[in-house]
Amino acid sequence: MKLKKKNPKVGFVSLGCPKASSDAERILTQLRAEGYEISSSYEKSDLVVVNTCGFIESAVDESLDAIGEALNRNGKVIVTGCLGAKGEIVQKTHPSVLAVTGPHALDEVMSAIHDNLPKPHDPYTDLVPPQGIRLTPKHYAYLKISEGCNHRCSFCIIPSLRGDLVSRPIGEVLNEAETLVNSGVSELLVISQDTSAYGVDIKYRTGFWNGRPVKTRMTELASALGELGIWVRMHYVYPYPHVDEIIPLMADGLILPYLDVPFQHASPALLKSMKRPANSENNLERIKSWREICPEITIRSTFIVGFPGETEQNFEELLDFIRLAQLDRVGCFTYSPVEGADANNLPNHVPEELKKERLARFMEIQEGISAEKLKKKIGSIETVLVDEVQGEQAIARSRADAPEIDGVVYLSNAEGLYAGDLVEVEIVNSDGHDLWAEPPSRI
Ligand code: SF4
Repeated sequence: MKLKKKNPKVGFVSLGCPKASSDAERILTQLRAEGYEISSSYEKSDLVVVNTCGFIESAVDESLDAIGEALNRNGKVIVTGCLGAKGEIVQKTHPSVLAVTGPHALDEVMSAIHDNLPKPHDPYTDLVPPQGIRLTPKHYAYLKISEGCNHRCSFCIIPSLRGDLVSRPIGEVLNEAETLVNSGVSELLVISQDTSAYGVDIKYRTGFWNGRPVKTRMTELASALGELGIWVRMHYVYPYPHVDEIIPLMADGLILPYLDVPFQHASPALLKSMKRPANSENNLERIKSWREICPEITIRSTFIVGFPGETEQNFEELLDFIRLAQLDRVGCFTYSPVEGADANNLPNHVPEELKKERLARFMEIQEGISAEKLKKKIGSIETVLVDEVQGEQAIARSRADAPEIDGVVYLSNAEGLYAGDLVEVEIVNSDGHDLWAEPPSRI
């Protein structure tokens, strides 16, 4: 006879106001959707969630009592709701709770429940691994932290397609990062439309990760990701003043010394007409101070030449900037109108021929800078991440190379290496884009 498998049971205690009740409803709905049973008995539950209130002192006492009762009668307790936002009180009074999350934290509560009481098998969704289905190789993954953008750059239509910035809860982002690392990922690439603005839409709300409060903010995110012991690469970081905070994390080896900052131009007049974020920053000064704090930093950027109204003088300002900035990795494109973008209506469009000529002049200077910089690496020992092995040769990347957009390191004598291996190599040759390296010694 086949025994019917019992679904896991969750007990639920909810205290407080209608907002707390609405949170409770969302959690209960999600629990049922995932196949958990809701139990009205402490003793018959496999785990108890206490949704607390912390508005006034008597509510705090009532919540702490409810947690105490659940611990006595069941033992496995997850705390959520307003008192959870004051995580220290809960953990000090009841150190044995399994996890503490704040209000409106559906994802964090669900993830704490999954960690302590795995969800029942679902033959439809369980074919999908916990890290979801990814299009990147197994050893690196993109980590999207927000959607949309609050800026209105005149050449871009992303905000009209995707709306204003919506940041993902930090607990959810960090849980996803942890799941990816557990599935074998060695490198996480943090992406969004505007990484430095992470959390601004939710006033940098404090979220929870593994029961610990963490602010929804770029520095705090980078620092928490740095604890995972893998490569963390930051993309699409606009040069707001607070970006300076993450450079010491690079110097300390917590995240990769790599910053992708799309400057797009250097002429103040053009940046203004492009309506670029942080367009009044003195970027040369910033770059200098970043290099003082973290000398090995790789700075990557992209630029547009031939934007409407770009004069020869504006373009010369851009060339001066790239000569002085000595950026490590640079992409440059000629301006091309996108349907629906405001820049289409600007006067003085630059003729195609002139755009191409400016692109060629720009690239000639930048290629010289890149080639010189790569040449200086010859003879150095670098740690590289193997992306692909083809017979005796492997294609790898150093800490200075993001996949798809930067250069690669070609390794000879690579037998026995596999994609995802981290190896130390000696750089023996270079060109304007890539490096060549000699037999690795495995880390
Ligand atoms: S910052 Fe500018 S270019 Fe980037 S997505 Fe927002 S509007 Fe578009």
